[in-house]
Amino acid sequence: MRYLFEKSLGRSLTILGATVFLAACSTLPPKDPVLMESALRIKADMTFLADDALAGREAGTQGYDAAAAYVAEQYAAIGLAPAAADGTYFQPVKLRSFERNPDKMALTLEGPDGTTSLDYLTDFLPSNSSKYEEKTITGDLVFVGYGLDAPEYGYTNYKNIDVADKIVVVLGGMPKNIPSDVSAHLRRSRMDVAGAKGAAGVLTVYSPGYEEWLPWQRAGRYAQSAGVGWIDDQGNVEGEEGGVAASAIISPTSSATLFAGAEMSYADLVEAIIVDENYQPSSFELPMRAELSIGSTFEDVVSSNVVAKLEGTDLNAEYIVLTAHLDHIGHTKNIDSTKDSINNGALDNATGVSTMLEAARTFVASGERPRRSIIFAAVTAEEKGLVGSDYLAQHPLPGGEMVANVNLDMPLITYPFTDVIAFGAEHSTLEAPTRRATESMGVTLSDDPVPEMNLFVRSDHYSFVKQGIPSVFLFLGFENGGEDVFRTFMRTNYHGVKDDLGQAIDYYQGARFSKIKYLIANEIANSDEKPAWNDDSVFGKMFGK
Ligand SMILES: [Zn+2]
Repeated sequence: MRYLFEKSLGRSLTILGATVFLAACSTLPPKDPVLMESALRIKADMTFLADDALAGREAGTQGYDAAAAYVAEQYAAIGLAPAAADGTYFQPVKLRSFERNPDKMALTLEGPDGTTSLDYLTDFLPSNSSKYEEKTITGDLVFVGYGLDAPEYGYTNYKNIDVADKIVVVLGGMPKNIPSDVSAHLRRSRMDVAGAKGAAGVLTVYSPGYEEWLPWQRAGRYAQSAGVGWIDDQGNVEGEEGGVAASAIISPTSSATLFAGAEMSYADLVEAIIVDENYQPSSFELPMRAELSIGSTFEDVVSSNVVAKLEGTDLNAEYIVLTAHLDHIGHTKNIDSTKDSINNGALDNATGVSTMLEAARTFVASGERPRRSIIFAAVTAEEKGLVGSDYLAQHPLPGGEMVANVNLDMPLITYPFTDVIAFGAEHSTLEAPTRRATESMGVTLSDDPVPEMNLFVRSDHYSFVKQGIPSVFLFLGFENGGEDVFRTFMRTNYHGVKDDLGQAIDYYQGARFSKIKYLIANEIANSDEKPAWNDDSVFGKMFGK
């Protein structure tokens, strides 16, 4: 509100004159006293969760466990019932973290120009594995364009080419003519497609679009961090690595090596994509063989999703799941010990959890139980690859079935927002109640303003989508200064030590957002029809039941 006031003041003095300034002042909506109280509670929750004592709430650490205990205490104080199978608020998730073992990494190419060994980190970044401490794959190379099997968008890269027991070479990045949310899904499932086609492994080469998406240096930094998956009762790990045993990304400078003697050179391929961003490369065999070795070291820990239930009335066996990830990325390693190394995750995602807790309080304070039950889930290991939510989505809670998910991640409550984005809403019947609830607060529902960032697959709702559960991901919009806030945050504070309570957090905006979340969940929980995918939704077709 202060920001709006100053803007009005500046404009009135320089352009419009004192009368207009006074008129503008009188039209500013007064603060709602109920929301002002909400704001204080959100502030208290965030102050605890983003404190240095919690050391960045990394899944599997004491800091995370302290945060989980705090959330459980709040659930109890609010009066929510425990929702886990053992009658507590904690759904334990066995996590395996698997780190690359540099000593085991090797990639050798054998082609028309002889044998070449590439260097780990300089020339190639291998996958890490949750299953194998050591693994070597060998095979002839086959180039399969973008490696897509999506006939509905005209991409059938595996048609008429045999890749069984071979190593496929795919272009990183994606063609531009596929809708962003579909593109994001196809990008993530590329390894599964290769595995399903019988390939032994995948080598990803750089394309012009890929360079923008994942600069080589950043890819190298990512390779230093561990992967995480959950361990099932049989001891198998549900990792993110997909359907092949080993894969690697080849550096922009080494990518051409794979195409030595091929029917189309790497340079010609890149040129063709620069000329036409929708260029469809054909698939062809490369006169090259590769041997790729990868190695990983394992560490197993347990971390819990924190789950509670508000019992519904006549449709109480249908669960509307509200999620917000409680974990963050912990300490920054290898930093000068005199400097701040704690990534507090105030906006990522102490905000999401705190506004979810406040939505729960609003439900209880309303005195009216919704028809469907509401599950409140502060989930673990989102930052490790949506792991806690994936476990939750595949392990139904007792007494009911999850029928919809509303996710909150990284609401940047530092400006008086006037619009909200509901990623994924257009795919299901959740759009209408989401729109009704948002507009009842005088807030607009906007379309995805940054499709190129693929936010739809980058948070926990996607775990539910994959299990066929209609989901929306709520995010603050780009109007009224939101775009600048978002871009600045991503550039300077995101996943860094500056995402702490020193930011200009406006808790009143958090209160407004939590109210919207409550209204949306309440609308969904009370609507006559059970949430369902729209007939034309590609996610409904892919995953719907
Ligand atoms: Zn994050």
